[in-house]
Amino acid sequence: MNDDHHSCCHRDHVEEIDPALTKAQPGQFTCPMHPEVISDTPGDCPKCGMALETVPVLSGDGAESDDHAAHEIRELSRKFWMALVLTVPVFFLAMWSMIPGNPLVEWIPKHISKWLEFAFSVVVVVWAGGIFFVKGWRSIIARHFNMFTLISIGVGAAFLCSAIATVFPHIFLESFRMDGEVGLYFEAAAVIIVLVLLGQLLEAKARTSTGQAIQALLNLAAKTAHRMVVNAG
Ligand SMILES: [Zn+2]
Repeated sequence: MNDDHHSCCHRDHVEEIDPALTKAQPGQFTCPMHPEVISDTPGDCPKCGMALETVPVLSGDGAESDDHAAHEIRELSRKFWMALVLTVPVFFLAMWSMIPGNPLVEWIPKHISKWLEFAFSVVVVVWAGGIFFVKGWRSIIARHFNMFTLISIGVGAAFLCSAIATVFPHIFLESFRMDGEVGLYFEAAAVIIVLVLLGQLLEAKARTSTGQAIQALLNLAAKTAHRMVVNAG
């Protein structure tokens, strides 16, 4: 998708960049996949959407980048757990109706359960998954299509289609209906958001421990050096 990776067959189209000009300095932020992306502030890579990593500072304590990473992990963790708690009922409400005879329908009729699914999944998709839509939109604007382009289009289509089917079911043709009901995909949208959040959380944790290990190694480097001049004469 990304033509940067196709240097084998599209070498003519790849811009040659002087590595010396594009090297991020300690304390700056860069993308592990795209070293040419350099920023003075934390954020996302405009090409692949990954969170930018800070370049370790020689003999620094890395406290600022640790704070940023800890904040990112806290945010992702809060969104993941909240999304998971809300997705479980959406998943069961959707799957239950597939059991022949739908035993749950006596307690929760379909016209109520679809609104419950909508209410829970709107929080998951819009609040917890909103970051992926921002990354997806940026990838479209920058014309650097990546994983978030796919996630935002897929989840967005599933959620919007289901939301319209819940609010305005009469606008759908008869051929769209199964047993008189338009198909809903709230559970698919919510489950994808939960899984991607889990992936992002694990990635952020792994990145933090790698960064701390590199910083610890750099801190072992000699901070002062003595030059000995030996007079041969
Ligand atoms: Zn990148």
